[in-house]
Amino acid sequence: MSNIESLLGRNRAFAEGGAWRHTPRLPFLPFKGLYVITCIDPRTDPAGFLGLEFGEAIVARAVGGRVTDAVLRDLSYIGYLVEQKATEGPYFEAAVIHHTDCGSRLLEDPELRRGFAERSGCDEDKLAQLPATVPADTVHADVDKILKAPQISPRITVSGHVYHTDAGLLETVAKPTHPGTWPSPARLQECVRGSG
Ligand SMILES: [Zn+2]
Repeated sequence: MSNIESLLGRNRAFAEGGAWRHTPRLPFLPFKGLYVITCIDPRTDPAGFLGLEFGEAIVARAVGGRVTDAVLRDLSYIGYLVEQKATEGPYFEAAVIHHTDCGSRLLEDPELRRGFAERSGCDEDKLAQLPATVPADTVHADVDKILKAPQISPRITVSGHVYHTDAGLLETVAKPTHPGTWPSPARLQECVRGSG
């Protein structure tokens, strides 16, 4: 028996309950206008600590809740889809959530880090930047990364939060902010120079 098999009964109940019929008008316009980015840790499932229900949010999960290039690409894609297919929005808030006692911190151990770099081919220096050692700091770094990324829709907002695993509480550390407009003045200058 596979591990998922024990949950198939819950799935049948879900299908019979019909909640799946109540969907957003477009799948990239979740009911609560939220795009949650959080850790893969089972304690940090936003359905649990935010009480998210069906269709209420887009959820991206990565180790540490860190905003990797893949996370950034998906976020920019969804913003782009809203711009193209639902111009008037509503635009969403991307909520970056890191947490205390994060397993990403195991990568602070040089030996473990080197071992995984060898196993995976990942760059060891990049792995060293991954741990959410001080979650409030890494959240700010990742919120800034999104705000500065030119491919992110300037019509969304980005906020930052720390989830405290020892209390079940979410603490907001960065209020919702719009990314810089694109193309930025600096980038426009580059384009002008490039074409000249
Ligand atoms: Zn974690």
